[in-house]
Amino acid sequence: MRRISVFGATGSIGQNTLDLLNPGEIEIIALSGGRQVDLLAADARRFGAQVAVTCYPDCYDALKQALAGSGIEAAAGPDAVVEAADRPADWVMSAIVGAAGLVPGLRALRHGGTLALANKESLVTAGELLMSEAQRHGATILPVDSEHSAVFQTLTGEDRAAVERVIITASGGPFRDWPLERLAGATPQQAVAHPNWSMGQRISIDSASMFNKALELIEAREFFGFPSERIEVIVHPQSIIHAMVGFSDGGIIAHLGPADMRHAIGYALNWPGRAHVPVERLDLARLANLSFQAPDETRFPALRLAREVMAARGLSGAVFNAAKEVALDHFIGRQIGFLDMAAVVEETMVRVSGDLCRKDAALDLEDILNADHLARQKAEEVARLRSR
Ligand code: NAD
Ligand code: MG
Repeated sequence: MRRISVFGATGSIGQNTLDLLNPGEIEIIALSGGRQVDLLAADARRFGAQVAVTCYPDCYDALKQALAGSGIEAAAGPDAVVEAADRPADWVMSAIVGAAGLVPGLRALRHGGTLALANKESLVTAGELLMSEAQRHGATILPVDSEHSAVFQTLTGEDRAAVERVIITASGGPFRDWPLERLAGATPQQAVAHPNWSMGQRISIDSASMFNKALELIEAREFFGFPSERIEVIVHPQSIIHAMVGFSDGGIIAHLGPADMRHAIGYALNWPGRAHVPVERLDLARLANLSFQAPDETRFPALRLAREVMAARGLSGAVFNAAKEVALDHFIGRQIGFLDMAAVVEETMVRVSGDLCRKDAALDLEDILNADHLARQKAEEVARLRSR
C-alpha cells in the first residue's frame, strides 16, 4: 500500500487532499496540523495514521486526549513535525503555510519518493536547495499550485527548448478594479473574500495584494528553470485557464480547469497517470467569455518586487518571503494598511541587502534560515515604524 503523509492536513489544501484519499487503499504515516486538534485527531483516527502532530507545543495535551485509546501517537512542536517528515513515505503532501514548510519538505525528500508541493514559500525561499536535494535523493517534486500544475501538464511530452514563454494567470482577486485610493483603506475581511477560489486566510489575502502571484512568478522560475523574462502574468478574472505555454512555432497551449484545487492535487496523486477526480466539469457554453488584461504594477507593486528578486537571486527570495509573511501578520493584526505591505517588503529588501552573506558556492540551509531570520527582524522594525 502506498504510504502517505500530509503536512498541513487541517488546512484548505490538506483537507482537499484527504478528500481524495480512501482509508482502505493507502496507509497514512503522518498528519500534521496546528490548533484544530479535534479535526486533526478525527482525521488521524479515520485513516489510522501512525502519528498526528500539532506544530504548537501547548496543544499537545488536547491532541493526546483526543487520540486516547486509538493507538495513534501524538506529538507536538516544530521539531516533532520534522521528525514526522523523517518517517519514510512514498507520497508526501507539503501543505503547511509559510516558510515553516521548508524543513519538513526537505526532510521528506530524503525518502526518494514524491513530494507534492503546495507550499510555494519553500520554493521561493530555497528553490535551488530543494531542487538539488530532490535530485540527490532521486525524489520527484510535483507542483500542486494550480498554475504550476497547469504548466507542468502542458509541458509534458513537449520539447522544453522550444518554449518561448510561460504565462500564469491571476484572477486579480477581490480588488482587481479598485483604484489606488480605495486600496489604501482595504481591510483584512475585504481582502480575504476571494471571488473564485476558497483558500486559507493567508493565501487569500496574498491573492488580493498580488503577493501570491509574485511568489508564483518566483516559484515558476525555480521549478521549471526558464529565464525569468520568459515568465509572464496575465490577469484572467474567470480563473478557468490556469496557465499557458507559448512555443517557438507560435502556438500556445492552455490548460483549463475548474477553480477547485482537487484537480491539481489529484494530478499529483495519480501522476504519471490520470484517474477520476470528482471536480465539477466545465460548462464552456455557460462560461461564454474568457477575458484577459495586463496586470497593473502601480496598484500591485508585489509583481515588480518579484522581478527584482528573480534578477538578484541568491538569498533575495528568502528575504522577500519572510518580509511578506511579517507584513501580512501586521496587516491581519490591523497595525498597517493594505498598501503598507508592499512598502514594508520593499524597505526590508533594501535594508537587508547589505547584511547578507554573499558567496558563490551553493546556498546551504543555514544561510537561508539566517536570511529568513534577519529579514523577519528588519521587517518587524519597518512595520512598527509604519504602524498606525
Ligand atoms: P491553511 O491556512 O488553510 O492551512 C495551513 C496548514 O498549515 C494548517 O494545517 C496549519 O495548521 C498548518 N500550519 C500553519 N502554520 C504552521 C507552522 N508554523 N508549522 C506547521 N504547520 C503550520 O493554508 P492553505 O490555503 O491550505 O495553504 C497551504 C499552502 O498551500 C500554502 O503554502 C499556500 O500558499 C499553498 N496553496 C494553497 C492553495 C489553496 O487553494 N488553498 C492553492 C495553491 C497553493
Ligand atoms: Mg496558485
